[in-house]
Amino acid sequence: MQVPPSLINSLAGLKGFNEEAFKRVHSSGRQVTSIRFNPAKLNGGSAATLFDGNLDGKIPWSSNGYYLTSRPSFTLDPLFHAGAYYVQEASSMFLEEAIKQMADLTKPLRILDLCAAPGGKSTLIQSVISEKSLLVSNEVIKTRVNVLTENITRWGGSNVIVTNNYPKDFQRMPEFFDLVIVDAPCSGSGLFRKDPKAINEWSEQQVEQCSRRQQSILADILPALKEGGLLIYSTCSFSKEENEEICDWFIKNYRLSSVSYQIRPEWNIIETVSPEKNAYGYRFYPDKLKGEGFFIAAFKKEKLDNEFRKEATAKGGSEKVTSKEIEVAKPWLKSGGDFFLIKHNEELFAIPIHLEKDLMVIRSVLYIKKAGVKLGTIIRDELIPAHELALSTIISPFIPAIVIDKETALQYLRRQEIKVDSDSKGWALLSHRQLNLGWIKALTNRVNNYYPKSWRILNK
Ligand code: SAM
Repeated sequence: MQVPPSLINSLAGLKGFNEEAFKRVHSSGRQVTSIRFNPAKLNGGSAATLFDGNLDGKIPWSSNGYYLTSRPSFTLDPLFHAGAYYVQEASSMFLEEAIKQMADLTKPLRILDLCAAPGGKSTLIQSVISEKSLLVSNEVIKTRVNVLTENITRWGGSNVIVTNNYPKDFQRMPEFFDLVIVDAPCSGSGLFRKDPKAINEWSEQQVEQCSRRQQSILADILPALKEGGLLIYSTCSFSKEENEEICDWFIKNYRLSSVSYQIRPEWNIIETVSPEKNAYGYRFYPDKLKGEGFFIAAFKKEKLDNEFRKEATAKGGSEKVTSKEIEVAKPWLKSGGDFFLIKHNEELFAIPIHLEKDLMVIRSVLYIKKAGVKLGTIIRDELIPAHELALSTIISPFIPAIVIDKETALQYLRRQEIKVDSDSKGWALLSHRQLNLGWIKALTNRVNNYYPKSWRILNK
């Protein structure tokens, strides 16, 4: 693999850049595979006992991230479909450390992951924040929202709202968020080892274009951040035009201060300062650590840009949930959770009660793709359960579950006909290694497979 010479030239002189080592690591063809476990689905077990593949040590800056010795077929692992882990590049898992170092996670926070698809950062954020906090996971490109929704659904939390909006749309909710994550679209040079085809698309003009887009995304989203709130900016590009120069531009144009991180020397992450405003940035070079190219920086919003604060207010109500419907839905939810039920197009959703007001505001100003956990539809006083409920962490442990082996799990995930041992009729969960995969309905002489068609495994 040959890195474009113009990229190499543009990196000369940057702190931490070592041309020889950089070229060597790119031509070595070495691939690093890593996954991050879902602590909400470990069921008290450890990552090592849950996962069949070979773990190759922990990722130093992540609580639940591990390297693998080789890349298995994740598609053929039922645990992946159950949301037990997410396949994520190791450097980008530093976001956990970045959030923990700068935010007070004991407080209920409103967090926005602005450029969220396919959901790597959002699932990480979900595992880091408290249940009292709200995560809004947004993706502007419509065709990418489905994969984001699937990954959020698999992760199982109830305190997430998935939206499909432009950054500018968030100006309808001024000063709403305590923390905004902008994992910006970029020229992608940091991922050349993983995706060598991206080399052909890379050009200096593309870097310039990306840099302009990054500026407009940051400018558009800043009004939605609270005064005193924090913004984390990251890219998977090595180019200073998308990293340190963006930090300079941001600080020059808005009332922001740069935030620094404590970096342990053994991590080999390089701290840089931007040329004009001395803003801190953190570079991940693949020749220095076990991960891909990544850049991260953080800012604190100092003072209001807008003197006149206009708080977003909730408009309109939701379809009424009757007390009968609440009674029908309740046994499906684990006890102790305090949920607010909402109906939309005849479907019932559960969201933590303390997030009710936030949901109403967001509903008034944004396009919501998913809110909380979809429970299902009530027909003739019976709940037809939704797939989301099966994968959620709020489902009652008393719902009947049939334990199946890996082969049957794969047949189920392919949406094929399956045979299971069950004397009782009706709805049941299928569970593999203590993790729910989805619903079946047992009839007198057959079992109906309710795995969502659009999610089914297509390869053999
Ligand atoms: N955060 C994601 C994760 O960890 O899985 C990866 C995000 S990717 C680097 C950047 C995302 O920004 C893409 O999903 C892309 O569709 C989205 N995007 C592209 N143009 C955008 C724009 N003008 N404003 C906001 N987001 C944009």
